[in-house]
Amino acid sequence: SEMSLEDLDHVGPATAQKLIDAGFNTIEAIAVASPAEIATSADIGESTAAKIINAARKSADIGGFETGDMVLDRRKLVGKLTTGCTEFNEMLGGGVETQSITELYGEFGSGKTQVAHQLAVNVQLPKEKGGLNGSVIMIDTENTFRPERIAQMVDGLSQKHGEDYDPEEFLKHIHVARAYNSNHQILLSDSASELANELKNTERPVRLFIVDSLTAHFRAEYVGRGTLADRQQKLNKHLHDLQRLGDLFNAAVIVTNQVMSKPDAFFGDPTKPIGGHILGHTATFRLYLRKSKGDKRIVRLVDSPNLPDGESIIAVTTEGLQD
Ligand code: ADP
Ligand code: MG
Repeated sequence: SEMSLEDLDHVGPATAQKLIDAGFNTIEAIAVASPAEIATSADIGESTAAKIINAARKSADIGGFETGDMVLDRRKLVGKLTTGCTEFNEMLGGGVETQSITELYGEFGSGKTQVAHQLAVNVQLPKEKGGLNGSVIMIDTENTFRPERIAQMVDGLSQKHGEDYDPEEFLKHIHVARAYNSNHQILLSDSASELANELKNTERPVRLFIVDSLTAHFRAEYVGRGTLADRQQKLNKHLHDLQRLGDLFNAAVIVTNQVMSKPDAFFGDPTKPIGGHILGHTATFRLYLRKSKGDKRIVRLVDSPNLPDGESIIAVTTEGLQD
């Protein structure tokens, strides 16, 4: 955004600096914040914070109402990205949707990162092959992005499609950043927006955002009951930023979330993803991944707003995801 915070009513240089120091460094970030959140973290009076938020909402043109036909027009643009697996695609009503957040949750080794890598490849395919002709922005929090793995998957697709895809070309359209902590992760979603803007009118607009893992830093940094509300609030805002990226760029958003195999007193039910119900309401598609025999994985669709719950089986092979 070309506008600076000081262009907002009620924001002078000192207030702008306080906001930036507290992590509210874009007008959008302010627009989706609550007065209490800004008041406490930026040391600004709550009534002033409310006025600033209102100014930011007007300026960012968000938080308003849309008519049903506007929503329908936007929904008409929803793209479906192939997973490369027949059952998995069918369960999703054709594939992973743009303008939605899809959460992959499961134990360590259940295949979340593998699915994310495969989608980063598939999204680059032409429409007739189930892709979206797009590029990818990936926020990698666990240092698990592997270009070699992308290359294997591209070779796998070359075999499957009888084409001669160039792995290097695919790697050029995957923009990866490591996030070193949860604040950095949140900042990177702002940079992602800028990068996506730059690519918007090119041949390769961003059609997929990946955050792998969404929750690992939050989980590690916010330990103890007292900090739980704070964690949820930050995670909630981060997810809303991601949803907005999906809407703005007509892109799919994939986030991963690890669940513990052993019952864990703090995080409760091991089969329930961390992030609790806030994540549940924001992620439109929730996919629970489980290991099965050999290279097989069971993917369960949970609580979709418009699709029946269901299960599908995929295989994670050297060539990538397969039926
Ligand atoms: P997580 O859910 O923790 O992100 P991953 O997506 O990293 O799990 O899955 C790791 C698993 O993926 C490995 O245990 C292995 O079964 C499979 N896998 C990873 N790389 C390959 C490969 N090159 N060929 C075949 N299978 C692989
Ligand atoms: Mg992983």
